[in-house]
Amino acid sequence: MSSDAQRKDASQRGEFSSTGTLRQVMGDYFAALGRAAGEGAKVAWCTSVGPAELLRALGFRVYFPENHGAMLGAARLATDLIPLANARGFSPDVCSYLTSDIGSYLKGETPLRKMGLAGPPKPDVLVFNTNQCRDVKDWFQFYGREWNVPCLGIHTPRSIGALDEPIVDDVARQTEALIEPLEEIAGTDFDIDRLREVIDLSRQCTVLWKACLETAAAVPAPWTFFDGTIHMGPAVVLRGEAPAVEYYQTLLEELRRRAECGEAAVPGERFRVYWEGMPIWGKLRPLSTQLAELKTAVVASTYCNSWVFEALDPADPFRGMARAYSSIFICRSEDQKEEYIERMVEKYRVDGILYHDAKTCPNNSNSRYQMPQRLQARLGKPYVVINGDLNDLRLYSEEQSRTNLEAFIEQLAE
Ligand code: SF4
Repeated sequence: MSSDAQRKDASQRGEFSSTGTLRQVMGDYFAALGRAAGEGAKVAWCTSVGPAELLRALGFRVYFPENHGAMLGAARLATDLIPLANARGFSPDVCSYLTSDIGSYLKGETPLRKMGLAGPPKPDVLVFNTNQCRDVKDWFQFYGREWNVPCLGIHTPRSIGALDEPIVDDVARQTEALIEPLEEIAGTDFDIDRLREVIDLSRQCTVLWKACLETAAAVPAPWTFFDGTIHMGPAVVLRGEAPAVEYYQTLLEELRRRAECGEAAVPGERFRVYWEGMPIWGKLRPLSTQLAELKTAVVASTYCNSWVFEALDPADPFRGMARAYSSIFICRSEDQKEEYIERMVEKYRVDGILYHDAKTCPNNSNSRYQMPQRLQARLGKPYVVINGDLNDLRLYSEEQSRTNLEAFIEQLAE
């Protein structure tokens, strides 16, 4: 087949009918944030794996700056905005979500305009969890100083092996300690039953989102990692709210239907790959197209699975949250990470692993200390390392990645 014909074939896949609902759900979420100031609602900024349930239970409208970072990357605005944050003292080596978001603030340029917002909603409080990295705390503290807004947080240990009770106790206590200052800022009393309701909704969202991801275990896979990065929006920004649950019920039905009919995300699927590490937001389309041309489906990823929080438990709210948010991949030990990837490789019938070494996110890059070599020795699966970045496209060579991916797929074919 000529490469033009391959390209056409690769782009022929029908759009998901759930996409319209997704746009609506995300549009409503941003509209509610945009109305917050006018309606006298309090706004909390929260890290992506922070205590969103507690904030929602206290009536805050919750905004996630990492989601804005991803939007800046996907809109390819980040690379021009990052130098503004560099000029304010943030090294080009630190998280490019952080630098592009702060650059966006300094320049007053944001893709949120397309969602009808003048910019990110001003926070009444900033709440972080260091389970993913220290960068989020530095990021939030910048805005705390800038706007004289309280910045509170949870300090979770990193490189956690077995998640033992002392860690769960400590993180649960830190989460409970947030109640008092948050009540004061929210101007409302904490209600444990409301928290249980929110956690119940969040857990339902998680279970459905996981089930959606698991449909890609089918051969051929009905969707890929690239689709997941788009459809994960509600799991990130709306967990704990009913529209996220309703959305994933709809999406799951569609995915199951596609899987049952053998409808392939990559027509003629030949190879199945696991994506380890951050997305390259500004290059999702060319990467997805190239892999489709190579008849390769990225069937699973660490990234999309990072919003699966099965330990959430309405009957044990604080310890359940502590367990859920301290058991995510990014804060686990190398052993735990390797065991996780091994399970994923088996479950999704993966032929090879693609590691994205994101220059500004060492926290979510796992190819630097021989993990690929160790896993290859253990699983016998080929791997490739793509050097790049989540947002800073100056750190990514499209040509080099194309060549490396072609060589990787040839290796799989052998
Ligand atoms: S985990 Fe990586 S990408 Fe996410 S906020 Fe931290 S440094 Fe940035």
